[in-house]
Amino acid sequence: MRQNELDELRRQVDGLNNQILDLINERTAVVQEIGRVKEKQGVNRYDPVREREMLNALVQSNKGPIPNGVLEQIFKGIFMSALEIQEDEQRNALLVSRKRKPEDTIVNVNGEEVGTGSPTFVFGPCAVESYEQVLAVAQSIKSKGLKMLRGGAYKPRTSPYDFQGLGLEGLKILKRVSDETGLSIVTEIITPSHLEEALDYIDVIQIGARNMQNFELLKEAGMANKPVLLKRGLAATIDEFINAAEYIISKGNSQIMLCERGIRTYERATRNTLDISAVPILKQETHLPVFVDVTHSTGRKDLLLPTAKAAIAVGADGVMAEVHPDPAVALSDAAQQMDIKQFDEFYAELQRFMNTHQTI
Ligand code: PEP
Ligand code: MN
Repeated sequence: MRQNELDELRRQVDGLNNQILDLINERTAVVQEIGRVKEKQGVNRYDPVREREMLNALVQSNKGPIPNGVLEQIFKGIFMSALEIQEDEQRNALLVSRKRKPEDTIVNVNGEEVGTGSPTFVFGPCAVESYEQVLAVAQSIKSKGLKMLRGGAYKPRTSPYDFQGLGLEGLKILKRVSDETGLSIVTEIITPSHLEEALDYIDVIQIGARNMQNFELLKEAGMANKPVLLKRGLAATIDEFINAAEYIISKGNSQIMLCERGIRTYERATRNTLDISAVPILKQETHLPVFVDVTHSTGRKDLLLPTAKAAIAVGADGVMAEVHPDPAVALSDAAQQMDIKQFDEFYAELQRFMNTHQTI
């Protein structure tokens, strides 16, 4: 008899659970509709004042036996989950999102396809210093059968008194070396006003860490007819990084390569902290190719090879590193650039690794 009573009460609870479930789903659908209306009006989805009003009204109508504190907790949970669902929807609707476009984006740099499964390498000096300097590195890159050369003509330096780059003259050097070797040029542009002029000299627009949220530059790059290599900001979250790429794609340019280059943490053993897990996260969340810059992330020559191996093992589409014919006299990043012999060894070792290990 007692057992029957308990079974009946449990049946009632199960029925009520289902009713609550249906109501929560119904409520979520209405909130999603509100979200769509707000989006059209350009209004923020989260409205704490409205949330407070709803909670107050619920407390007013509470006939018990739930205490008001518990009631508030339950409803805050319901409000929060509706908001999270909307945020997920917003994230999935981004043009860079893999939910929106499941297949990988292949970036084409003068016929060199990035993002097809075999890693692309971008090597070159930190800064363009002279024709001879760039040519020496370019020849070494070419001798390895590689296709891309990096080098900064505009250098965004921490101190205004440090070498700022050769500017247009640097671009001309890069172009001359490109014409002579056939290598494609990856170089950083730091302001929208330089972009149009620079396009005649370069093949890939690099947007550096310090400019990841230079939204005007992102928009200009989005209107350009050249691939973009976008580096992660010095202390940017993955979400901010993805949104920076969205700025570019939203203007029509989907030829974007993302580059993890380390972020600022409390750790001082390396120049920055290489966030290696950002690679698979970015590849899951977006359809864009992902590079790892082992030079700026570590700032240490002894870590270039192990981190490059890690990048390849974890599924990166490319690796960037700095090479200088005589790093000791380099005008920027002297401590961390490889010389040509070290570059040869680095690349040979990386090739051996790639031939003997599977990537994920
Ligand atoms: C660079 O690649 O030349 C550079 C300045 O790197 P970052 O923007 O990542 O600091
Ligand atoms: Mn550098």
